[in-house]
Amino acid sequence: MRQKLVAGNWKLNGSKASIESLMGGILAGLEGMDNVAVAVCPPYVYIPMAQTLVAGSRIGLGSQDIADQDAGAFTGEVSGAMLKEFGCDYAIVGHSERRAIYGEQDADTARKFAAARKHGLKPILCVGETLEEREAGITEAVVARQLDAVIALEGVEALTDGVIAYEPVWAIGTGKTASPQQAQDVHAFIRGKLATLNAAVAAKVQILYGGSVKGANAAELFAMPDIDGGLIGGASLDANEFLAICKAGN
Ligand code: PEP
Repeated sequence: MRQKLVAGNWKLNGSKASIESLMGGILAGLEGMDNVAVAVCPPYVYIPMAQTLVAGSRIGLGSQDIADQDAGAFTGEVSGAMLKEFGCDYAIVGHSERRAIYGEQDADTARKFAAARKHGLKPILCVGETLEEREAGITEAVVARQLDAVIALEGVEALTDGVIAYEPVWAIGTGKTASPQQAQDVHAFIRGKLATLNAAVAAKVQILYGGSVKGANAAELFAMPDIDGGLIGGASLDANEFLAICKAGN
């Protein structure tokens, strides 16, 4: 049985005060939910504060991105070693906003996946198609291409050091959730593709769904056989919503 993971991606949101209050609510509400794994991914600058807030709890800490380099003249970047020093367990790589807004390519994402692994962080590898790609019937080809870039660089076994998040771009922040069956179909495709390379990896790797998950739809998504939790954007900024999602994964 794969454990469910619920990870909150706070994106470019928060302040010292709002994060203190959000984390207070999450920490109090998680009491007794011992089965689900939970993580939060604050903006870089709030990671040290979040590290203090989650200390002694079972909430994991993650970054929203990571440099593909270790050190040097890379203005604005944050390395895996730095993230590790501030208690990070996870690093999101290849989020669709990085790909679409900042031009991140599959090869860049693969190097970031490698950098996270190298520093003992679990990469949360985001894959997913745009609406145009879905309508053109190339969802599986797009997701396969995104996965193949990582497999080519790191090998398929490396995927069990991380987590995959299937996030259809048309469902992110739009309020349009993929139906449980739509999500399950792509998750099953991903697991099936991995099974052709390594059955043990396919059975073990956690595949999260992301895209407008809320307290009200999490349970039906998480009930699907190949959905192992969620990567949560908007709803992770509200303690009660986030806790309802965690409960669905518990
Ligand atoms: C995300 O950005 O990873 C995400 C899933 O966002 P939302 O939950 O807001 O759709």
